[in-house]
Amino acid sequence: MLDLVVSGGTAVMPASTEAADIGVEGGKIVAIGAPGSLAALGAGRVIDAAGQIVIPGGIDPHIHCGMPIMMPGSNEEVLSAPPEEVSRAALHGGTTTLLDFALCLPEVPLQSSIEARQREWAGACYCDHGFHLMLRGKQNPQIFAALPEAVQAGHASVKIFTTDIRPVNQGRMVKFGDIWETLKVLAKAGGLAAIHAEDNDIVMHMYEKLIREDRVGFENMAEVHNTLSEDLSFNRVIRLAENVEGAALYMVHVSAATGVAAIAASRGRGFPIYGETLHQYLLYTAEDYKRPGGQMFHTYPSLKHAEDHKALWAATQHGAIQAIATDEVCCPIKIKLQGKRIDDTTGGNSGVEPRLSLMYTHMVQNRGYSLADFVGLVSTNAAKIMGLYPRKGALGVGSDADIVLLDPRAGRVLRAEELHETDYTPWEGHQVAAWPSVTILRGKVVVENGQLLGSPADGEFLPRKVADEIRSRPAI
Ligand SMILES: [Zn+2]
Repeated sequence: MLDLVVSGGTAVMPASTEAADIGVEGGKIVAIGAPGSLAALGAGRVIDAAGQIVIPGGIDPHIHCGMPIMMPGSNEEVLSAPPEEVSRAALHGGTTTLLDFALCLPEVPLQSSIEARQREWAGACYCDHGFHLMLRGKQNPQIFAALPEAVQAGHASVKIFTTDIRPVNQGRMVKFGDIWETLKVLAKAGGLAAIHAEDNDIVMHMYEKLIREDRVGFENMAEVHNTLSEDLSFNRVIRLAENVEGAALYMVHVSAATGVAAIAASRGRGFPIYGETLHQYLLYTAEDYKRPGGQMFHTYPSLKHAEDHKALWAATQHGAIQAIATDEVCCPIKIKLQGKRIDDTTGGNSGVEPRLSLMYTHMVQNRGYSLADFVGLVSTNAAKIMGLYPRKGALGVGSDADIVLLDPRAGRVLRAEELHETDYTPWEGHQVAAWPSVTILRGKVVVENGQLLGSPADGEFLPRKVADEIRSRPAI
């Protein structure tokens, strides 16, 4: 007898979207049948999903838990919310897989950095999870020597910054020689480079200029982290990678039309490059910085302009953007609003919980996207790019039974007090057209009608291997 059957919902499956029964045993999807057919066989539990949309659990490929947050005028170290808080909120919102980062400092043995991060997360995450390896600063040969083994062990992606982002807090930027070397190592080892690309010279020049002109308010952020910077940096990274046999790129938080154009042109040349944007960048612009508490909409690089919005949205329709992430850096509103200048305002946001419902609303309800395209953008594509497919991101026989029932009758107005992360949401007052009624992680019902039934011991580490197809051409 099956452990669980999700019966009669509109199931968004790899080859079709139709009413179906989904049978679960041992944490896996083991059968898919006509509506009512599996339920009729009997099961440990049958969940009636009639009237609901049944999708694979959401995947957020870009979050930062327990990361130091800069506090203006203080040496106090404040950390973003830990995996317990963020992953719990994720489950409530229908996201079951999170990809965070393992900071790998050049002088620390790579394996020690990875193990330290895994120890922090073991038993502390409600969701399944993995880590991008985050390189910083001048690289040490031991990193390049150890990377292939780390990639083989399932840490298939490496994050690199081309900028220090802010004039203070130096040391993020990896210079182009080291990026070149990293790309070569990853190409051989079967990895993927995830790049935060901004032109450091332009960004630092603009900080200096605006400080000189006494225009230091954070509402000027889009002048510092500007569209030209994205243009120059994306194209420079792409040119470099296109010259490394076997390299593949994932551009994180694409924010501008220039970034979209650079990715599209490279894809046009057949290069395996993928784009991520944030729901923040799809739904807010730099104009929102001028609202009271406008810092809450900010995340680096920066919100941009109406024409960038248009280009980003267009790119989600089988163009340059494949995945919608949050760049979650969850913290209390007091900390989010503490910085008021271009050089001290904290980035990231709190948004892992409403991501899925917001995207359903703006994609399916407002723009008429197919359910399959919506699921691709919030789950399946990230699974494919990051080497988790078909274990994750699919309602198919053999996949993990990460299943979400999205209820179009449960639309609501988002309120921070009803969400499960920190004390504010940048989405306060937004209407969403659906909300998850049930979230299932590997066959276990972890949230049902707003009740948390999961445990921080549920989340498993996910080793990842990027498919050759993804790394050889723009496959999605
Ligand atoms: Zn980030």
